[in-house]
Amino acid sequence: MPYSEGVLRRARARLEQAQTQREAEFAAHQEQAYEQFPRLREIDRQLRLTAAQAVAAAFRKNEDPAQAIAALRDENLALQQERDWILEAGGFEEGFLDATPVCERCGGRGYVGSEMCSCLRELCRQEQKKELTTLFLTGKESFDNFSLSYYPDTVDPAIGISPRRLMQMTLTRCKRYAAEFSLRSESLLFSGATGLGKTFLSACIARQVADKGFSVVYQSAGALFADFEAAKFGERTDENQRLPQKYFNCDLLIIDDLGTEMTTQFTIYTLYNVINTRMTQYRPTIVSTNLTPESLDSRYSTQIASRLQGTYRLFQFFGNDIRLLQK
Ligand SMILES: [Zn+2]
Repeated sequence: MPYSEGVLRRARARLEQAQTQREAEFAAHQEQAYEQFPRLREIDRQLRLTAAQAVAAAFRKNEDPAQAIAALRDENLALQQERDWILEAGGFEEGFLDATPVCERCGGRGYVGSEMCSCLRELCRQEQKKELTTLFLTGKESFDNFSLSYYPDTVDPAIGISPRRLMQMTLTRCKRYAAEFSLRSESLLFSGATGLGKTFLSACIARQVADKGFSVVYQSAGALFADFEAAKFGERTDENQRLPQKYFNCDLLIIDDLGTEMTTQFTIYTLYNVINTRMTQYRPTIVSTNLTPESLDSRYSTQIASRLQGTYRLFQFFGNDIRLLQK
């Protein structure tokens, strides 16, 4: 689950801060205990004496190393015991002098070998959730808050079904999509006029999928193209160069509002590049657009239209502009 650079950076900073704080806490505890019971410092120093040192000492004295190690073990046990007594007598709570890292599995480093530890993954999940929350307008985008009452309940002759019934079916399938999301999930195309709930519904999916620990990037088409433009034509900084990466790497990409941006050769090329690369790497994408599936061809290119029509599951949105109804 490749999280975007910003998410990963903030998550790692939090882990590092927690670990530093834990170490400082331990050092303070140790200082306090040593000051109160100087014998503790001496015991800890003795305990740090390793088996290798015991063997070396035995050789120097022409003694049997096996015996020296056994003696060291006995001595260590006795020292441990004495240490426990002192701590108990001093009234220190349990674990007061344990130098345990924030995460036992990775030692607070965030990685076990080259693999990301579950502690850092959880921090990434939280940071991404924060990022998505600030991105959405109301912060209330959840399936539970989705109201079907705005959709007309009478049969629309053009589609042979009422928009409400159609929306009900779309809602059910989107809920299942979010609940069962995996990297094998299909890509979706939301098509319909403005104000029919496309953005709201894709935000619901984004939140739930992110909650499950997948990396999700949610971006308007305009902002996505701007990132690619900055990387190609902007100042050649590392930061600019890295801007497009997240659109290729994330587990789920949601491109909102496709069709409202100014179309140029560059945006057509970029869109094809993103859609095609993600498709060949089996990474699901959700595209929402106010264009009809048929007009994608004339607006972009035949290749893009055939990708979207051929491999994306189409959901069409019908009804009256909800934002006007709410007023
Ligand atoms: Zn860990």
